[in-house]
Amino acid sequence: MTVPAIQLEHIHYAYPDGPPILRDINLSIPAGQSVALIGVNGSGKTTLLRHLIGLLHPEEGRVLINGVDTRTATIAALARQVGFAFQKPEHQLFSATTRAEIAFGPHNLGLRGAALDARVAETLEQFGLTALAQHPPAVLSFSYRRLVALASIAALHTPILALDEPLVGLDGLWRRRVIAWLEAHQAAGGTTVMVTHQLRLAAKMTRVLVMRRGELLADGPPEEVFARPDLLAEAGLAEPFSVALGRALGLPGPTLRIRDVLAALTEADAAPGRPPGP
Ligand code: ADP
Repeated sequence: MTVPAIQLEHIHYAYPDGPPILRDINLSIPAGQSVALIGVNGSGKTTLLRHLIGLLHPEEGRVLINGVDTRTATIAALARQVGFAFQKPEHQLFSATTRAEIAFGPHNLGLRGAALDARVAETLEQFGLTALAQHPPAVLSFSYRRLVALASIAALHTPILALDEPLVGLDGLWRRRVIAWLEAHQAAGGTTVMVTHQLRLAAKMTRVLVMRRGELLADGPPEEVFARPDLLAEAGLAEPFSVALGRALGLPGPTLRIRDVLAALTEADAAPGRPPGP
């Protein structure tokens, strides 16, 4: 049997002297899936993500990454498997230059010389950061700091990505570069778990997990999860605008994108027997 990329078995967690934050989370993510983790603030998404890289260990239960318990894996072994991006880029940037920031992880994983230089150059190019290679990340704008933080994760070429709100603060070309990286990661068979408030982004993933007060309230493909306004309301979330619009227009099935709404309307217009419009 193939070992799942990520397996959470009966995870319970509370911060020291705090209330329970994660309650009996059970989850199996096969390699190659892209998973969105959604839920209101405080529902436990970031806490769950921190378990995937061994930053936190469960009080009860086990976290297995490619079959290895995070309690027994070394930090270095986990870092080879999971690239983790913090919600705030400041929490992971510490190098004197953008180049050094991006080189740090691959160097730690053992890359040296020409192989390291090539990895760094290719990553700088991929994220449009080549011209900023000698700049200290700390003086860059928020969008660039975010991009450098994500590029430093991308440079690791890990099979699993665990990303906390990676697109916040990015738009236009910056956003497209990150999306292109994520799409390439998926196309190469990689696994992604992403905390996001952007339901439009969640709708593009293969699976959506809804958290509410430390529990998994729902788990399914976006077309199933976003077809349940009752469930989203229970989790304190509004349904995506395109889904609400499709429902208001009486279209069948959840319309996850505005272009789905347009396509359904165009099809309805073209349907035989329908009187021509004005
Ligand atoms: P989400 O990512 O869904 O917003 P979090 O996992 O960040 O949720 O937080 C879940 C709960 O855990 C919140 O009530 C938050 O205040 C609490 N919490 C988060 N980090 C810490 C911490 N380092 N120490 C104590 N409590 C924390």
